[in-house]
Amino acid sequence: MNILLLGSGGREHALAWKMAASPLTDRLLCAPGNAGIAQEAECIALDLADHGGIVAFCRSNKVDLVVVGPEAPLCAGIVDDLEAAGIKAFGPSRAAARLEGSKGFTKDLCRDNGIPTAAYARFRAAGEARAHIRSRGAPIVVKADGLAAGKGVVVAQSVAEAEAAVDMMFGGGLGEADGEVVIEECLDGEEASFFALCDGETPIPLATAQDHKRAFDGDKGPNTGGMGAYSPAPSIDAAMSDRIMHEIIWPTVRAMKAIGAPYKGVLYAGLMITSEGPKLIEYNARFGDPETQVLMLRLMSDLVPALLASRDGILKTFDLRWYDNPALTVVMAANGYPGHYARGSAIEGLDEAAAVEGVEIFHAGTKVEAGRIVANGGRVLNVSAIGKTVREAQARAYQAVSRIRWPEGFYRHDIGWRAIERERRA
Ligand code: AMP
Repeated sequence: MNILLLGSGGREHALAWKMAASPLTDRLLCAPGNAGIAQEAECIALDLADHGGIVAFCRSNKVDLVVVGPEAPLCAGIVDDLEAAGIKAFGPSRAAARLEGSKGFTKDLCRDNGIPTAAYARFRAAGEARAHIRSRGAPIVVKADGLAAGKGVVVAQSVAEAEAAVDMMFGGGLGEADGEVVIEECLDGEEASFFALCDGETPIPLATAQDHKRAFDGDKGPNTGGMGAYSPAPSIDAAMSDRIMHEIIWPTVRAMKAIGAPYKGVLYAGLMITSEGPKLIEYNARFGDPETQVLMLRLMSDLVPALLASRDGILKTFDLRWYDNPALTVVMAANGYPGHYARGSAIEGLDEAAAVEGVEIFHAGTKVEAGRIVANGGRVLNVSAIGKTVREAQARAYQAVSRIRWPEGFYRHDIGWRAIERERRA
């Protein structure tokens, strides 16, 4: 098969690495890709917002399957446009991607189908939202309805902070995402991510992960897209996984089918494991980044047939095998991230780092300039490792990190600390 992957981050490098290893893959293309992906695939300069251009490219290059990495093209209907042109595409339709694209849509779907989630109310005007916050008190969570690149959620510790968030969101602080806010009860528990593959009718569980969102050690500093992750999530054992499938994933897939928007692709549930059981925080309509980097290290089966089975609607009889061993990834980011940072600094030592046992390095924001790998984004590298324990995976990842010479970058030193503490107690 000729496969075109859309995206340019560490998630896409991990997917490309796994798909390139498939005997089903003849030619792997990636648009736009990065310097690491270029080692697995032919990188093509295509604009992901130009659906017509992508369709034309697929036709002239006999592309058999398009795999969509990021959420923006999914929410913009890239899968609908490709399928309408007779090109197979992995991922949800625009209508199904509302599970990520609209928090209000997802909350109403949960309410109507008895899916456990935080209590909530939706508002279109700041005054009513503020009154609601004052009647509920803090802590309380304020969310913009639409896609807001991670800036649309404020977990407010005081009423004043929550009211300020409402004013920011209705005051145009988030561009297009500012038409509506959702105000939610603040949930208490341990967060974990659960990934399922869906074909419109049947979901099958993939694996679980936990990530570190804060920029600095000790889970301090500003929120980021993710500074590291590990899989599996220790808080989700087999019994909890069954509950999540039964109470959250299955009812969602059934409900989406019933409203005429069958969900195909990866359904990524952000969960709070509370004393009452699992509760949905949010859905994403795609693979996670950096969670995919650890998932792909643990996936024993070929990925390509799984993506095809999701698209073709035949997951019912499908089975995926995983390594039991945990995997962990450390994100190396440009100094200043998630605020202002510079591009163009040279990165050295990648080959020595990749030689550490069990290690794979996935590139997030890199490019080649005059024969050297240089930083080209905020999150730049995902140094990933598998091991017999989280502790071993962590030691391997940090040994590899120590071989990378890049003074203009930084990373957290404690990725996986919670899971390692659990291992020690056990
Ligand atoms: P979201 O974009 O909805 O995943 O929210 C971003 C982060 O905000 C989550 O990963 C949680 O850490 C936090 N969060 C969101 N909703 C809640 C909630 N209802 N209770 C507690 N924390 C939340």
